[in-house]
Amino acid sequence: MRPIVAHIHLPALAHNLAQVRRLAPHAQVMSVVKANGYGHGLLNVAQGLQATDAFAVLNVSEAIALREAGYKQPILLLEGVFAAEQLQAVDRYRLDIVVHHAAQLDWLQQAQLSVPVRVFLKLDSGMHRLGFQPAEYPSKLAQLAQCANVSEIVQMTHFANADQADGVSIPMQTVTAVMAGKPYQRSLANSAAVVQQPQTHADWVRPGIMLYGATPINDRSAASLGLKAVMILQSALIGVQEIAAGESVGYGSLFTADKPMRVGIVACGYADGYPRHAPTGTPIAVHGKQTRTLGRVSMDMLAVDITEIDEAQIGSPVELWGALVPVDAVAQAAGTIGYELLCAVTARVAFKVY
Ligand code: PLP
Repeated sequence: MRPIVAHIHLPALAHNLAQVRRLAPHAQVMSVVKANGYGHGLLNVAQGLQATDAFAVLNVSEAIALREAGYKQPILLLEGVFAAEQLQAVDRYRLDIVVHHAAQLDWLQQAQLSVPVRVFLKLDSGMHRLGFQPAEYPSKLAQLAQCANVSEIVQMTHFANADQADGVSIPMQTVTAVMAGKPYQRSLANSAAVVQQPQTHADWVRPGIMLYGATPINDRSAASLGLKAVMILQSALIGVQEIAAGESVGYGSLFTADKPMRVGIVACGYADGYPRHAPTGTPIAVHGKQTRTLGRVSMDMLAVDITEIDEAQIGSPVELWGALVPVDAVAQAAGTIGYELLCAVTARVAFKVY
């Protein structure tokens, strides 16, 4: 077996969930576990998040997997249904739905359901992705309120810029203008808003990334937000090279040594989900010591500088990201965000759950 393993630490999920509750003490928590639990395994993360008040997923199939595993909490379909027929599964598995366009509302009104459903009615507060415009929102709300298939309404939006210090003040004016005075709960906040926009916490917060121990805010580390990494992506050295000054490493010879160096070859490449764009200098740890990658990441391998790590040899443990090297640091070096790296770990990587 190749030595690359994604170690999934469930106590870290419970810790991060508790941290959400500390930051938003008056809100219920809907844990966002879409995209296979942000790449950690849907049922793995559900197990670590048993204390959550609800789950949010994208697809009916994810919701069914949670129900079949025995989870009784509310489960919200974040994009709602894509066709009228899916409302049968919503009914059968007792799911909550987002309604963000008019056809979904029509399907709901015409559906034959055994029990009414809870609907999160989505307002477009400026992201211009999904949701009703502020001018049409009140009439959709009134329509839902009249619909026999609706048990409860939650007013919802998703912010475009909650990670910016002043990123929600204008959208919050829209939210307040449209939602105030209505007898319905609200759900507004993703992780960034949980962390730094307390005025958005309302009745239900919807954190994703912070539950997995990565930062939702570029210039603040996950550790400084009291979060613990859930995934430790680990592998090992499968080769060691001694190179002289002037010799190069990897495809394209992108790195050339200016002195004699020891180079370790790690069993991890872009086909495992490691970003090919990670340049020379991306942080990585060998034998618990921070060092840097060298040259171009290849499909199955990458190179690291072990010149200063005397104990490094074939078989030495390597942490790609997790405890010693925050996933956010690797992401920043590669010009992306922790979300993308966590979601991109591929099926050939073994998972171990603790
Ligand atoms: N709510 C909605 C509607 C989302 O689409 C997402 C994720 O993209 C979240 C909440 C969670 O966001 P984050 O992972 O930034 O906390």
